[in-house]
Amino acid sequence: MQILDGQLVSRNIKDSLKLDVAALVAEGRKIPHLAAVLVGNNGASETYVAAKVKACSEIGFKSTLLRVEDSVTENKLLSLIQDLNNDPDVNGILVQLPLPKHISDEKVILAIDPAKDVDGFHPVNAGKLVLGSPGFVSATPHGIMLLLEYYKVETIGKAAAVVGRSNIVGRPMSILLSANNSHGNSTVTLCHSHTRNLKEICLGSDIIVAALGKPGFVKADMVKEGAVIIDVGITRVPDAGKKSGFALRGDVDFAAVSPKCSFITPVPGGVGPMTIAALMKNTFAACVNQN
Ligand code: NDP
Repeated sequence: MQILDGQLVSRNIKDSLKLDVAALVAEGRKIPHLAAVLVGNNGASETYVAAKVKACSEIGFKSTLLRVEDSVTENKLLSLIQDLNNDPDVNGILVQLPLPKHISDEKVILAIDPAKDVDGFHPVNAGKLVLGSPGFVSATPHGIMLLLEYYKVETIGKAAAVVGRSNIVGRPMSILLSANNSHGNSTVTLCHSHTRNLKEICLGSDIIVAALGKPGFVKADMVKEGAVIIDVGITRVPDAGKKSGFALRGDVDFAAVSPKCSFITPVPGGVGPMTIAALMKNTFAACVNQN
Protein backbone atom coordinates (compact mmCIF):
# COMPACT_ATOMS: atom_id res chain seq x y z
CA MET A 1 0.00 0.00 0.00
CA GLN A 2 1.29 3.44 -0.91
CA ILE A 3 0.16 6.68 0.71
CA LEU A 4 -0.82 9.39 -1.76
CA ASP A 5 0.99 12.19 0.04
CA GLY A 6 -0.89 15.40 -0.60
CA GLN A 7 1.51 17.43 1.53
CA LEU A 8 4.48 16.39 -0.56
CA VAL A 9 2.83 16.89 -3.95
CA SER A 10 1.29 20.18 -2.89
CA ARG A 11 4.72 21.39 -1.78
CA ASN A 12 6.19 20.43 -5.16
CA ILE A 13 3.43 22.32 -6.99
CA LYS A 14 3.89 25.38 -4.80
CA ASP A 15 7.69 25.28 -5.31
CA SER A 16 7.20 25.16 -9.05
CA LEU A 17 4.71 28.06 -8.89
CA LYS A 18 7.26 30.03 -6.88
CA LEU A 19 9.67 29.72 -9.82
CA ASP A 20 6.89 30.72 -12.23
CA VAL A 21 6.21 33.85 -10.16
CA ALA A 22 9.94 34.67 -10.09
CA ALA A 23 9.93 34.40 -13.90
CA LEU A 24 6.98 36.82 -14.12
CA VAL A 25 8.81 39.27 -11.86
CA ALA A 26 11.99 38.95 -13.95
CA GLU A 27 9.97 39.78 -17.06
CA GLY A 28 8.46 42.80 -15.31
CA ARG A 29 5.00 41.26 -15.48
CA LYS A 30 2.22 41.39 -12.92
CA ILE A 31 2.15 38.80 -10.11
CA PRO A 32 -1.08 36.88 -9.37
CA HIS A 33 -3.50 38.45 -6.88
CA LEU A 34 -6.16 36.35 -5.11
CA ALA A 35 -9.02 38.05 -3.27
CA ALA A 36 -10.69 35.84 -0.64
CA VAL A 37 -14.05 36.82 0.81
CA LEU A 38 -14.90 35.40 4.23
CA VAL A 39 -18.42 35.98 5.52
CA GLY A 40 -18.87 35.60 9.29
CA ASN A 41 -16.50 33.62 11.52
CA ASN A 42 -17.22 29.93 11.04
CA GLY A 43 -14.21 28.10 12.57
CA ALA A 44 -13.62 25.69 9.67
CA SER A 45 -13.99 28.47 7.07
CA GLU A 46 -11.49 30.63 8.99
CA THR A 47 -8.99 27.75 8.89
CA TYR A 48 -9.48 27.08 5.16
CA VAL A 49 -9.16 30.75 4.18
CA ALA A 50 -6.11 31.21 6.39
CA ALA A 51 -4.45 28.23 4.67
CA LYS A 52 -5.19 29.72 1.22
CA VAL A 53 -3.82 33.14 2.18
CA LYS A 54 -0.70 31.47 3.66
CA ALA A 55 -0.15 29.48 0.46
CA CYS A 56 -0.31 32.74 -1.54
CA SER A 57 2.37 34.34 0.61
CA GLU A 58 4.60 31.21 0.43
CA ILE A 59 4.46 31.27 -3.37
CA GLY A 60 4.80 35.02 -3.77
CA PHE A 61 1.24 35.79 -4.87
CA LYS A 62 -0.49 38.89 -3.61
CA SER A 63 -3.61 38.13 -1.56
CA THR A 64 -6.35 40.19 0.02
CA LEU A 65 -8.65 38.81 2.70
CA LEU A 66 -11.97 40.64 2.81
CA ARG A 67 -13.84 39.92 6.03
CA VAL A 68 -17.55 40.59 5.99
CA GLU A 69 -20.02 40.44 8.92
CA ASP A 70 -22.42 37.49 8.71
CA SER A 71 -25.28 40.01 8.90
CA VAL A 72 -24.22 41.44 5.50
CA THR A 73 -27.09 41.77 3.02
CA GLU A 74 -27.03 39.73 -0.16
CA ASN A 75 -26.98 42.93 -2.23
CA LYS A 76 -24.00 44.30 -0.34
CA LEU A 77 -22.06 41.06 -0.88
CA LEU A 78 -22.99 41.04 -4.58
CA SER A 79 -21.80 44.62 -4.93
CA LEU A 80 -18.49 43.73 -3.23
CA ILE A 81 -18.03 40.93 -5.79
CA GLN A 82 -18.81 43.39 -8.59
CA ASP A 83 -16.08 45.69 -7.28
CA LEU A 84 -13.60 42.79 -7.31
CA ASN A 85 -14.71 41.84 -10.84
CA ASN A 86 -14.01 45.41 -11.95
CA ASP A 87 -10.65 45.69 -10.16
CA PRO A 88 -7.95 45.03 -12.77
CA ASP A 89 -5.44 44.29 -10.00
CA VAL A 90 -7.46 41.24 -8.79
CA ASN A 91 -7.01 38.07 -10.86
CA GLY A 92 -8.87 35.48 -8.78
CA ILE A 93 -11.89 35.72 -6.50
CA LEU A 94 -12.99 33.11 -4.01
CA VAL A 95 -15.94 33.35 -1.70
CA GLN A 96 -15.56 30.82 1.10
CA LEU A 97 -18.65 28.60 1.42
CA PRO A 98 -20.93 27.95 3.24
CA LEU A 99 -22.63 31.35 3.34
CA PRO A 100 -25.20 32.44 5.93
CA LYS A 101 -28.71 31.12 5.21
CA HIS A 102 -30.10 34.51 4.07
CA ILE A 103 -27.60 34.63 1.17
CA SER A 104 -27.99 32.50 -1.94
CA ASP A 105 -24.79 30.57 -2.79
CA GLU A 106 -26.06 30.33 -6.34
CA LYS A 107 -26.49 34.11 -6.81
CA VAL A 108 -23.06 34.77 -5.31
CA ILE A 109 -21.34 32.22 -7.54
CA LEU A 110 -23.15 33.61 -10.59
CA ALA A 111 -21.95 37.12 -9.74
CA ILE A 112 -18.26 36.17 -10.00
CA ASP A 113 -16.66 36.93 -13.36
CA PRO A 114 -15.96 33.45 -14.87
CA ALA A 115 -12.47 34.69 -15.84
CA LYS A 116 -11.73 35.27 -12.12
CA ASP A 117 -13.65 32.23 -10.83
CA VAL A 118 -10.59 30.31 -9.60
CA ASP A 119 -12.80 27.98 -7.53
CA GLY A 120 -14.39 26.81 -10.81
CA PHE A 121 -17.93 26.96 -9.39
CA HIS A 122 -19.47 29.35 -11.97
CA PRO A 123 -21.84 27.63 -14.45
CA VAL A 124 -19.62 28.79 -17.34
CA ASN A 125 -16.65 26.91 -15.89
CA ALA A 126 -18.79 23.93 -14.81
CA GLY A 127 -20.15 23.80 -18.38
CA LYS A 128 -16.68 23.94 -19.89
CA LEU A 129 -15.64 21.04 -17.67
CA VAL A 130 -18.55 18.95 -18.95
CA LEU A 131 -17.63 19.78 -22.56
CA GLY A 132 -13.91 19.19 -22.00
CA SER A 133 -13.06 22.82 -22.91
CA PRO A 134 -10.32 24.73 -21.08
CA GLY A 135 -11.64 26.56 -18.01
CA PHE A 136 -11.23 26.61 -14.25
CA VAL A 137 -11.78 23.19 -12.69
CA SER A 138 -13.15 23.08 -9.17
CA ALA A 139 -10.10 22.98 -6.87
CA THR A 140 -10.76 19.74 -4.96
CA PRO A 141 -11.36 17.46 -7.98
CA HIS A 142 -8.58 19.27 -9.85
CA GLY A 143 -6.22 18.62 -6.93
CA ILE A 144 -7.20 14.94 -6.81
CA MET A 145 -6.42 14.56 -10.53
CA LEU A 146 -3.01 16.21 -9.97
CA LEU A 147 -2.33 13.74 -7.16
CA LEU A 148 -3.32 10.74 -9.33
CA GLU A 149 -1.10 12.05 -12.14
CA TYR A 150 1.87 12.57 -9.82
CA TYR A 151 1.73 8.97 -8.58
CA LYS A 152 0.92 7.69 -12.10
CA VAL A 153 -2.23 5.99 -10.85
CA GLU A 154 -3.80 4.27 -13.85
CA THR A 155 -7.36 5.40 -14.55
CA ILE A 156 -7.90 4.25 -18.14
CA GLY A 157 -10.48 1.49 -18.37
CA LYS A 158 -10.88 1.33 -14.58
CA ALA A 159 -14.18 1.12 -12.73
CA ALA A 160 -14.56 4.12 -10.42
CA ALA A 161 -17.17 4.87 -7.76
CA VAL A 162 -17.59 8.47 -6.68
CA VAL A 163 -19.66 8.63 -3.49
CA GLY A 164 -21.29 12.07 -3.18
CA ARG A 165 -22.62 14.24 -6.02
CA SER A 166 -22.11 17.81 -4.82
CA ASN A 167 -21.46 20.45 -7.48
CA ILE A 168 -18.08 21.26 -5.96
CA VAL A 169 -16.64 17.79 -5.40
CA GLY A 170 -18.45 14.61 -6.42
CA ARG A 171 -20.05 15.65 -9.70
CA PRO A 172 -16.99 17.38 -11.23
CA MET A 173 -14.87 14.45 -10.00
CA SER A 174 -17.08 12.01 -11.89
CA ILE A 175 -16.74 14.14 -15.04
CA LEU A 176 -12.93 14.34 -14.79
CA LEU A 177 -12.51 10.60 -14.21
CA SER A 178 -14.79 9.77 -17.13
CA ALA A 179 -13.27 12.36 -19.53
CA ASN A 180 -11.81 11.09 -22.77
CA ASN A 181 -8.15 11.82 -21.99
CA SER A 182 -5.07 10.14 -20.57
CA HIS A 183 -5.97 10.99 -16.94
CA GLY A 184 -9.59 9.92 -17.28
CA ASN A 185 -11.28 7.21 -19.31
CA SER A 186 -12.60 5.45 -16.22
CA THR A 187 -16.12 4.05 -16.18
CA VAL A 188 -17.70 6.01 -13.36
CA THR A 189 -20.67 5.31 -11.12
CA LEU A 190 -21.80 8.46 -9.31
CA CYS A 191 -23.40 7.45 -6.01
CA HIS A 192 -25.57 9.44 -3.62
CA SER A 193 -27.92 8.99 -0.69
CA HIS A 194 -30.52 7.18 -2.85
CA THR A 195 -28.05 4.66 -4.28
CA ARG A 196 -29.36 1.23 -3.32
CA ASN A 197 -26.45 -1.16 -3.82
CA LEU A 198 -23.61 1.12 -2.73
CA LYS A 199 -21.59 -1.65 -1.08
CA GLU A 200 -21.68 -3.80 -4.24
CA ILE A 201 -20.77 -0.82 -6.45
CA CYS A 202 -17.78 0.02 -4.23
CA LEU A 203 -16.70 -3.64 -4.06
CA GLY A 204 -16.69 -3.76 -7.87
CA SER A 205 -14.62 -0.55 -8.18
CA ASP A 206 -10.91 -0.15 -8.82
CA ILE A 207 -11.05 3.48 -7.63
CA ILE A 208 -13.30 4.86 -4.87
CA VAL A 209 -13.62 8.57 -4.21
CA ALA A 210 -15.43 9.11 -0.91
CA ALA A 211 -16.91 12.62 -0.72
CA LEU A 212 -19.98 12.44 1.46
CA GLY A 213 -18.99 13.98 4.80
CA LYS A 214 -19.73 10.89 6.92
CA PRO A 215 -16.68 9.95 9.04
CA GLY A 216 -15.48 6.36 8.60
CA PHE A 217 -18.32 5.52 6.18
CA VAL A 218 -16.22 3.40 3.76
CA LYS A 219 -15.42 0.17 5.60
CA ALA A 220 -13.03 -2.65 4.70
CA ASP A 221 -15.89 -4.93 3.54
CA MET A 222 -16.80 -2.35 0.85
CA VAL A 223 -13.33 -2.33 -0.71
CA LYS A 224 -11.71 -4.88 -2.99
CA GLU A 225 -8.06 -5.87 -2.71
CA GLY A 226 -5.78 -3.45 -4.57
CA ALA A 227 -8.31 -0.61 -4.85
CA VAL A 228 -7.27 3.06 -5.01
CA ILE A 229 -8.98 5.06 -2.26
CA ILE A 230 -9.38 8.84 -2.33
CA ASP A 231 -10.79 10.21 0.90
CA VAL A 232 -12.17 13.72 0.44
CA GLY A 233 -14.12 13.88 3.70
CA ILE A 234 -13.09 16.30 6.42
CA THR A 235 -15.27 16.26 9.52
CA ARG A 236 -14.37 17.79 12.85
CA VAL A 237 -15.02 15.29 15.64
CA PRO A 238 -14.60 16.11 19.35
CA ASP A 239 -11.21 15.01 20.70
CA ALA A 240 -10.34 16.00 24.27
CA GLY A 241 -6.71 14.96 23.63
CA LYS A 242 -6.20 17.77 21.09
CA LYS A 243 -5.46 21.36 22.00
CA SER A 244 -8.13 22.51 19.55
CA GLY A 245 -10.67 20.12 21.14
CA PHE A 246 -11.33 18.34 17.83
CA ALA A 247 -9.72 15.96 15.36
CA LEU A 248 -10.26 15.72 11.60
CA ARG A 249 -11.81 12.50 10.31
CA GLY A 250 -12.17 11.33 6.74
CA ASP A 251 -14.99 9.38 5.12
CA VAL A 252 -12.89 6.20 5.07
CA ASP A 253 -12.08 3.87 7.96
CA PHE A 254 -8.37 4.29 7.25
CA ALA A 255 -7.02 1.70 9.73
CA ALA A 256 -9.21 -1.10 8.39
CA VAL A 257 -9.22 -0.12 4.69
CA SER A 258 -5.57 0.85 4.09
CA PRO A 259 -4.10 -2.70 4.28
CA LYS A 260 -6.33 -3.70 1.33
CA CYS A 261 -5.43 -0.78 -0.96
CA SER A 262 -2.82 -0.14 -3.60
CA PHE A 263 -2.99 3.62 -2.93
CA ILE A 264 -4.83 5.66 -0.31
CA THR A 265 -4.98 9.31 0.77
CA PRO A 266 -4.64 10.11 4.48
CA VAL A 267 -6.82 12.64 6.36
CA PRO A 268 -5.38 15.10 7.04
CA GLY A 269 -2.53 15.43 4.53
CA GLY A 270 -4.16 13.99 1.43
CA VAL A 271 -6.82 15.82 -0.57
CA GLY A 272 -6.85 18.97 1.64
CA PRO A 273 -3.40 20.31 0.66
CA MET A 274 -4.05 19.33 -2.98
CA THR A 275 -7.18 21.52 -3.01
CA ILE A 276 -5.04 24.49 -2.04
CA ALA A 277 -2.34 23.63 -4.60
CA ALA A 278 -4.99 23.42 -7.35
CA LEU A 279 -6.47 26.76 -6.29
CA MET A 280 -3.00 28.30 -6.56
CA LYS A 281 -2.53 26.82 -10.04
CA ASN A 282 -5.90 28.24 -11.09
CA THR A 283 -4.96 31.67 -9.71
CA PHE A 284 -1.68 31.65 -11.61
CA ALA A 285 -3.50 30.69 -14.82
CA ALA A 286 -6.07 33.47 -14.24
CA CYS A 287 -3.29 36.04 -13.93
CA VAL A 288 -1.49 34.85 -17.06
CA ASN A 289 -4.77 34.80 -19.04
CA GLN A 290 -5.60 38.35 -17.96
CA ASN A 291 -2.22 39.95 -18.58
P1 NDP B 1 -22.27 17.77 0.42
O1 NDP B 1 -22.90 17.67 1.78
O2 NDP B 1 -22.57 18.93 -0.43
O3 NDP B 1 -22.62 16.45 -0.40
C1 NDP B 1 -22.60 15.19 0.20
C2 NDP B 1 -22.99 14.17 -0.84
O4 NDP B 1 -22.89 12.90 -0.22
C3 NDP B 1 -24.41 14.32 -1.38
O5 NDP B 1 -24.42 14.10 -2.76
C4 NDP B 1 -25.17 13.20 -0.65
O6 NDP B 1 -26.22 12.65 -1.41
C5 NDP B 1 -24.09 12.17 -0.48
N1 NDP B 1 -24.38 11.28 0.64
C6 NDP B 1 -24.70 11.62 1.92
N2 NDP B 1 -24.91 10.51 2.64
C7 NDP B 1 -24.74 9.47 1.81
C8 NDP B 1 -24.84 8.06 1.97
N3 NDP B 1 -25.16 7.51 3.15
N4 NDP B 1 -24.58 7.27 0.91
C9 NDP B 1 -24.25 7.80 -0.29
N5 NDP B 1 -24.14 9.14 -0.52
C10 NDP B 1 -24.39 9.95 0.53
O7 NDP B 1 -20.71 17.63 0.70
P2 NDP B 1 -19.42 18.16 -0.09
O8 NDP B 1 -19.28 17.50 -1.40
O9 NDP B 1 -19.34 19.64 0.00
O10 NDP B 1 -18.29 17.60 0.90
C11 NDP B 1 -18.15 16.23 1.16
C12 NDP B 1 -17.04 16.04 2.19
O11 NDP B 1 -15.82 16.51 1.64
C13 NDP B 1 -17.22 16.85 3.49
O12 NDP B 1 -16.66 16.11 4.56
C14 NDP B 1 -16.40 18.10 3.24
O13 NDP B 1 -15.94 18.68 4.44
C15 NDP B 1 -15.25 17.51 2.47
N6 NDP B 1 -14.57 18.46 1.61
C16 NDP B 1 -13.20 18.41 1.65
C17 NDP B 1 -12.47 19.23 0.84
C18 NDP B 1 -10.99 19.12 0.88
O14 NDP B 1 -10.31 20.02 0.44
N7 NDP B 1 -10.44 18.01 1.36
C19 NDP B 1 -13.09 20.24 -0.02
C20 NDP B 1 -14.54 20.16 -0.05
C21 NDP B 1 -15.23 19.30 0.76
P3 NDP B 1 -27.53 13.49 -1.87
O15 NDP B 1 -27.09 14.33 -3.03
O16 NDP B 1 -28.50 12.43 -2.26
O17 NDP B 1 -27.94 14.28 -0.67
